[in-house]
Amino acid sequence: MTEQIGARAEPSKVETCIVCGHERTAGIHIVGQFLCTECEHDIVVSDVTDVKYRYYIERMKQIWLAAIS
Ligand SMILES: [Zn+2]
Repeated sequence: MTEQIGARAEPSKVETCIVCGHERTAGIHIVGQFLCTECEHDIVVSDVTDVKYRYYIERMKQIWLAAIS
């Protein structure tokens, strides 16, 4: 059994994903906003005709608009 004690060089920081709204430690940053790995993966595997994909694009658009305003 291994315990997650955050003893690594890069401490895991809990951040709120801008797409799913869940608190995650793993993810990427896009224009200063946090996107968790699960949502990132979802976007990558989503088909462009997928409703979910469009939802993500809408979310991303709002992030970018917020970032440039
Ligand atoms: Zn997410």
